[in-house]
Amino acid sequence: MDQQLIQSALSYGRRFVRYGKPASYIPELASKDPSKLGVAVCDMEGNLLTAGDTEEKFTMQSISKLIALIIALEQNSYDDVFTKVGLEPTGDSFSSTVRLDHLTNNKPFNPMINAGAIAVTSTIRGASLEERRDVCLAFARKLMGNSGLDVDYEVFLSEARTGYKNRAIIYLMRSNGIIEGSCEEHLELYFLLCSLACTCRDLSMFAATLANDGISPSTGERLIPLRTVKLVRSLMVTCGMYDYSGEFAATVGMPSKSGVGGGIISCPIGRYGICVYGPALDEKGNSTGGLKMLEYLSENMDLNMF
Ligand code: GLN
Repeated sequence: MDQQLIQSALSYGRRFVRYGKPASYIPELASKDPSKLGVAVCDMEGNLLTAGDTEEKFTMQSISKLIALIIALEQNSYDDVFTKVGLEPTGDSFSSTVRLDHLTNNKPFNPMINAGAIAVTSTIRGASLEERRDVCLAFARKLMGNSGLDVDYEVFLSEARTGYKNRAIIYLMRSNGIIEGSCEEHLELYFLLCSLACTCRDLSMFAATLANDGISPSTGERLIPLRTVKLVRSLMVTCGMYDYSGEFAATVGMPSKSGVGGGIISCPIGRYGICVYGPALDEKGNSTGGLKMLEYLSENMDLNMF
């Protein structure tokens, strides 16, 4: 990977920015500048290449579902977590409720849709909500090698005030016995995680640790157990790009996870940690320019795992 290639990926991605627009169902996200675009690539030695708007901060949104799952699996047994959530893709949009009220099996299909991530978040332990938040924040800071990482409270409040669909989801799961304890506290933790503000650089470090089997390429420290990394990467392939996951696997072929803040991370195994950012989204919630940059990098660097 060299600077020229990253720059070309950026120029290619720019041509597709105009086909998308920022998420508006979270009011604060609607005001983001749709022309922003950036890419950061971290190799397995911790070297970083960047192009475009890589200093721009954006919220992780659904990318944080990976962090919630890693913490939940650290604190609980696999059986405990996977009695509350499955491992199957849905083909539905990320906030869909249609499969949540099945007569015999009403657990959410996987940890990458909102319902599944909320169920996973409900298993994150701590004596209080503050303690649970601090555990998550400390781990996210470590994963990204950034001790200054914090919540964007404007985005958090914006979503907390308007997150009716996620409220419907959690209360439906509460009535079906999936969720225990305070729905409002679990939701608050979920919204806080979604509102973690980071840059392409931060997330490329996280992606590089996933690509490097859980060991941080910059410090050499194991941050995630290998078993968890394998599970997380498999979910990224099958469910990481919402209801575009199948087509994305077929055309780009890298374990990836997107968020409606405009970020997407990819972790071609043993190769690179990649983060692209562009708040202009397509109708499924994926960054239009970001998708095209990943397509370009996969093709030109032979990163398709299949
Ligand atoms: N916070 C967002 C939500 O719950 C995350 C969704 C996403 O990035 N797809 O709706």
